[in-house]
Amino acid sequence: MLLQLEDVVLTYGKIEALHGLSIEVEEGEVVALIGANGAGKTSTMRAVSGVRGIHSGRIIFQGEDVTRLRADQRVRKGLCLAPEGRGIFPGMTVVENLEMGAYTRRDKAEIAKDFERVFGLFPRLEERKKQIAGTMSGGEQQMLAIGRALMARPKLLCLDEPSMGLAPMLIQQIFSIISEIAEQGTTILVVEQNAKQALSRADRAYVLETGNIVKTGTGADLLDDPSIREAYLGVA
Ligand code: ATP
Repeated sequence: MLLQLEDVVLTYGKIEALHGLSIEVEEGEVVALIGANGAGKTSTMRAVSGVRGIHSGRIIFQGEDVTRLRADQRVRKGLCLAPEGRGIFPGMTVVENLEMGAYTRRDKAEIAKDFERVFGLFPRLEERKKQIAGTMSGGEQQMLAIGRALMARPKLLCLDEPSMGLAPMLIQQIFSIISEIAEQGTTILVVEQNAKQALSRADRAYVLETGNIVKTGTGADLLDDPSIREAYLGVA
């Protein structure tokens, strides 16, 4: 098992956002976490990546308890997040942003290979190498956020709402690239409001409602599930 969350409780002051969440991700899988606004998707990603500490429970990565490790320590172990709202460095160029993604690494030749990989996945980023990231379109910034996370050469890539704010055509494109990243051997945990795309690309998925997992299954099974279709796919 690559990642296990065991009974994770996450709080913001008096508000409990996650009430004892347990999820698992196996090596090589694409696992999706779907849910409505406020269900706790971003909070789950914060817990996994370590940008916010948890109140109780455990987070196990590659058999090691990482619950008390900071986010940067988790990145060094191969657990990397492309955050919601992109979180790129707006004043830096595309190349500088990608270099920041590799800041934990010293292996120059391997970093050069990863630049090639990222530019192969996102030719647009290569065309815009010198552009100041903050002046790029929303879709381009999303590509950059994913590219930057890949520069850490993660074992587990966590994506928080990669389709947020994108036009339908770009959503398709981003999900195709996510599938390609998975085919290249990176395990993926993706949090999404766009349930249809996420479920059709995921090996397995969890449905999150107000801080609890209410359903789990293969992406295909959940796509066929009448209650999921009604609640998340807008079809009865
Ligand atoms: P969305 O799709 O709208 O981003 P989400 O599923 O990602 O929603 P979270 O952002 O994880 O949901 O929020 C879960 C709950 O925690 C919500 O009730 C939210 O109001 C609350 N919450 C999130 N961040 C904070 C914070 N920094 N301080 C207080 N409460 C917060």
